[in-house]
Amino acid sequence: MSGQPDKITNQAKIVREIRVNPIVPSESVLVATARSMRPKKEETPSPHDSSPHVETCPFCRGNEAMTPSPISQVPEGSDWQVRIVENLYPVLDDDREDPDLAFGLQQTINGYGRHLVVIDHSCHGIRIHEMTKEHITLLLSIYQDRMEKLYHSDNLLRYVLVFKNFGPAAGASISHTHSQIIAMPVVPDNVQAEVRNSAVFYQTVQRCIFCSLIDEALNFETTIYNKESGAIQRRIDVGQFVIERSRRFITIKPFASRFEWEVHILPLKHSPDFLETSPEDLADLASLFRKTMARLNTVLGSAQYNFFFHSLPHGPEYTGSSRSFHWHIEICPRTSIPTGFEMGSGLFVNTICPEDAAERLRNVVLPD
Ligand SMILES: [Zn+2]
Ligand SMILES: [Zn+2]
Ligand SMILES: [Zn+2]
Repeated sequence: MSGQPDKITNQAKIVREIRVNPIVPSESVLVATARSMRPKKEETPSPHDSSPHVETCPFCRGNEAMTPSPISQVPEGSDWQVRIVENLYPVLDDDREDPDLAFGLQQTINGYGRHLVVIDHSCHGIRIHEMTKEHITLLLSIYQDRMEKLYHSDNLLRYVLVFKNFGPAAGASISHTHSQIIAMPVVPDNVQAEVRNSAVFYQTVQRCIFCSLIDEALNFETTIYNKESGAIQRRIDVGQFVIERSRRFITIKPFASRFEWEVHILPLKHSPDFLETSPEDLADLASLFRKTMARLNTVLGSAQYNFFFHSLPHGPEYTGSSRSFHWHIEICPRTSIPTGFEMGSGLFVNTICPEDAAERLRNVVLPD
C-alpha cells in the first residue's frame, strides 16, 4: 500500500459514476461533476418576497374570506397561527360519481381523494428557518393530526401525502408560505417501491435498510486501494454524509442523491410511521428541521425546494412492513432543470458530488 490518504479526497477529482439507490435501484443517479453538463439555475439568490403582509394575498390574516371556510384553525379566532382550508383547485376531490374504468389498455382510477392547503404561518414571507421552534412543532403536530383524521375518516383513502412546494422553481403558485396534504385512493409507486424493496432487504439480513444506512453514515470508515498500483481509489470517512444530528433525528445526504442539495431527515430509532412520533420527539425534530433549512438557505442564498413525508401506508397489507420500513422526510432543493436525457433515461444527473455538498452544508456556521 502506498499513498497518503490525506492527499487524495473525492473533491480533487471529477466524479462520473452511476450510484445505485439501495432502496429503489430503478431510481439510481448519475453523479457527473464535470461542469456545463446541464442547464443550471446557478446558486444565485432568487428574489424572495419577505413581506409580512400582502393586502391581496388570500392566505394573509384579515383576508380569510378569500379562502373556503377553514377545516381547522389553530388557535381559533383572528389571531390564528396555522390554518387548513380546502384547495380551490384540487388535484383529487371528494367525488364518488365516476367509477373506475377499463377499456383495453386504457385503465383509469377515479380521482377520488382530498386536497388540503395548510397555511403554515400567518406571516406571508416567513421561511421555515425563520419560524420559531415552537411554531414548527405546532405545524408538525397539525400535519400528524390531519393525516390521522384523513386515514380514519374514509377507508377509500389509501395514502396521505404531506408536502411543500416553496418558490416558483418548486411549483408554488402562491408565495405565502404553505404546505399541502393530498389523500389519495392509491399508494404512490415510489412509496410502494420503498416499502417493497426495504422488505426484501429485511428478509435477507433481518435489518431495516434505513437503520443500516444511518449506522453506515455514523460509523463506516474505509479506504479502498487499487490492487495493482496501491493508489487510493476512494476514502469513506465517518460522518461524511451526516449534515445534522439531534437527540432523536438525523439529517443525511443520500449517497445517490438525485438533486444537488437533496437531504433526508430520519428518526435515529427505528419507526415506520410518522404518526407514532411523540410530542417530545416532534419538538426535537422541529429544531433539527429548522437548522437543516437554515443550512440549505445559507448555501443556496434562498432555497426553493420541495419536501415530502414518506410514512408507512395504512392498511392490513402494510402492517407486515413495520419492521422494514422507516419513515422519513425528503427535502429536494431545485437548482437545476431536468434534461431530455434525464426524462428519457430516468437516470437523474447530479453535478455536485454528494459528499462535497454534505461538507458544505455541514460547514455552515449557524447562529445559536
Ligand atoms: Zn400572504
Ligand atoms: Zn429502521
Ligand atoms: Zn422516501
